[in-house]
Amino acid sequence: MKVTVDFDLCESNAMCEALAPDVFELDDDDYLQLKKEDIGPEDLESVRRAVASCPRTAITLA
Ligand code: SF4
Repeated sequence: MKVTVDFDLCESNAMCEALAPDVFELDDDDYLQLKKEDIGPEDLESVRRAVASCPRTAITLA
């Protein structure tokens, strides 16, 4: 599966990074970076939690 982020919606609150630090990371300027886009079984559960927890519904997993 692939994860994408709508960076126009993202408010850089680091919720996703807290739940899936192997996939999401805020850089030094507080911009969200994706460490990977292809999500394997090992990251699926944590990314699903991040999708459900993002207050801006900015994350898509498809
Ligand atoms: S949880 Fe959503 S709003 Fe917060 S940093 Fe991640 S993508 Fe952005």
